[in-house]
Parts: sequence; C-alpha cells; structure tokens
Amino acid sequence: MKRLIYADNAATTQLDIEAFEAMKPYLLQEYGNASQPYSFARQPKKAIQEARETIASCIGALPEEIYFTSGGTESDNWAIKGAAFCSHDHRATITTAFEHHAVLHACEAIELLGYPVAYMWPDGNGIVSPEILEHYITDNTLLVSVMFANNEIGSIQPIKELCRLAHSHGALFHTDAVQAIGHVNIDVNELGVDMLSASAHKFNGAKGVGFLYIRKGTPITPYADGGAQEHGLRAGTENVAGIVSMATALRVNIERLNVNQEHVISLERMLLSNINRSGIHYIRNGGGHTLPGIISLSFDGKDGESILHRMDLMGICISTGSACDSRDTEISHVLRAIRIPENLAKGTIRISLGKHNTTDDVEAIVSALKKILL
Ligand code: PLP
Repeated sequence: MKRLIYADNAATTQLDIEAFEAMKPYLLQEYGNASQPYSFARQPKKAIQEARETIASCIGALPEEIYFTSGGTESDNWAIKGAAFCSHDHRATITTAFEHHAVLHACEAIELLGYPVAYMWPDGNGIVSPEILEHYITDNTLLVSVMFANNEIGSIQPIKELCRLAHSHGALFHTDAVQAIGHVNIDVNELGVDMLSASAHKFNGAKGVGFLYIRKGTPITPYADGGAQEHGLRAGTENVAGIVSMATALRVNIERLNVNQEHVISLERMLLSNINRSGIHYIRNGGGHTLPGIISLSFDGKDGESILHRMDLMGICISTGSACDSRDTEISHVLRAIRIPENLAKGTIRISLGKHNTTDDVEAIVSALKKILL
C-alpha cells in the first residue's frame, strides 16, 4: 500500500493518542449528562471543570473565562455577533480582508442587520500593522477582530500592539487564534485580548469542539439560548469527550511546545533548502514572520489545482492557495488581499507541516515537486 504523506496540518491534524485515550471513557462508560443532579453525572461534570482549568492555565486565563463551543467557526461567529448585538447604537466593527470566512461571513451577516463593518487590507507580506489600523479606528469603534496568524500564508500579526491601539480608542479586541494555539506560546494577558477563538482539531484534539476565551466583564450576548450550560451563554449538552480531548491535546502540545517547534522549523528549513537546490523557481508568501510549518509557495505560470491533484496521486496531501474551499476554483481572498499577481496566485500551494511529519516526508514532497515542476 502507498504510504500517506500528510502535509495539510493547517486543514486538520491527527488526533493525539493521549487525547484519544482520555476521551474514550466519556464515550463508553461515563456517558452521563453533566447537567443532571445524580451521582452518575459527577464524573463528566468534574471532567469538564478540569478541562476548563487545564485550558485556562495553558493560555493564562481564568477557568470561568473559557466557553466551550463546537469549534473555530462557532467561536468566531459568537465573538463578532455577540459583541455587535450588545451595541444598541450600532458602533462599528473593524476586521481584515484576509480573515477566515468564519469571521468574514459573520461580519457580512451583521452588516445586513445594519451594523457597520470596515475591512483592513494587509501589506504585501500579509501583515496588518498598527499604522494600518490607525487609518480605520475611531472612538466609535466597538470591536477590532484580527487573526493571530493567517491560515493560508501563516503570517503572524502584531496582536499585542493592535490590541493596545484598539483599547486606547475604547474598542474591544478579538483574535482568531485557531491556527496558532497549541503551536506557539499564547498568553491572553500578555496580549491583552478580550476574546480569542480556538479549535481542537487544529492542535491534535477531536473535531467539532473548540472554545472562545471571553475576558471577564466583556459585554456579549448569548450564542445559543436554551439550557444554563456555559454560564447561560451557550446552551446545549456538553460534548464531554470532545472537551476532554481538547484539553489533553492542548496540554500535551504546550508541554512539548519547544520540541515541536524546533522539529517543525527544522523540517521547514530542510524543505526550502531542498527546493532551492532542486532548481525549482518559487516565491514564498507571507513574509519573514510566519507560523512554524505553514509554507505558501507560488510557482509562476503553473496551476496549483493540478499540482495538488498530481501530489494526491503520489499519496501526498497538500492544499492550494487558489481555492477558498474544494468547490471554489477562484483565487483565494487571502492571495487577493496581499495582491499576488494572478499568474503567481493561480500557481500557489500550501504545504503545512506538523509534529508528526518526518524528514522522509519532506524528501518525498520535494521529489514529487521536482517531478511535477521541472
Ligand atoms: N479560523 C481559522 C483561521 C481557520 O483556519 C479555521 C479552519 O480552517 C477556522 C477558523 C474554522 O475552524 P473550525 O474548522 O473548527 O470550524
């Protein structure tokens, strides 16, 4: 059987074995509804509380500031809509043109309801600097939402500085940290953010579970009305197994953060130097300050889609930078936002390496690229 080489870790990651073992009892034996008063609910309830504490300690938050959700999309929607719907005088939201669609489409939805939104354009390296935010922000801004790191090109934003500027105008600050959390060090107090979105499956937890960090005192409306779960702000029976997997995966990744980072950075260096030696011509998108392992490459005059499919035939999973999702063959809004010329944008792929990748994987990826591009 052909060996699978998985190099699309920005799309999702392999479930950590420790996270899998930790979630198993809550699927099989401890399946009680955590909201029930009887003793069979005690263990799931305790597991949720411990997960809240673990996650809080990984990001420097208080346990009661962690709200469990169904993933990054829900967390982003809640932050954008929940903040806007609290603003009875319809103060403005500012975001960027290269956010994930979970933020962009949530912003479009509030615009339709009469809440104004402004979209900042990053520079050519995919950075939104405080100078760019200065052009947009006023004392009437309600919320600034800027992603911690871009999911296609990996560029890391100056969140602390942007957040400080937002606060100086009395605005709240949200960051979509879905790609970054569990892979780089994040402390909500060091950054100063009011809200932060995360998704377990991007850091080796289960799919369909995430959290929104909401700083104590942040004005926000409930995401879902119903039961009293999540302090009455997000109703619905808790996904206990998923929550346990998320806390375990985050703890494991944070404990090995430096080791994992060094490993992924060394694979990234090896990949780029092997491509350089191969004679393949490319442009790396996202400037110099990117998340470890997210490598967006553009090949002039080539077709990213066909590179993806030929790599797939060789057993290698990567993604393109030219499609927003598998059904959309337009140039992605991210590449448009950083103003990549069309001939390069069309020939863009994203390789995203993770802690499970090896030097053999990197050699196989470069040898496949040589076959396709030379
Ligand atoms: N935000 C970013 C930056 C992402 O990369 C993703 C997923 O690709 C999401 C949000 C959505 O997360 P989820 O898949 O958990 O809904």
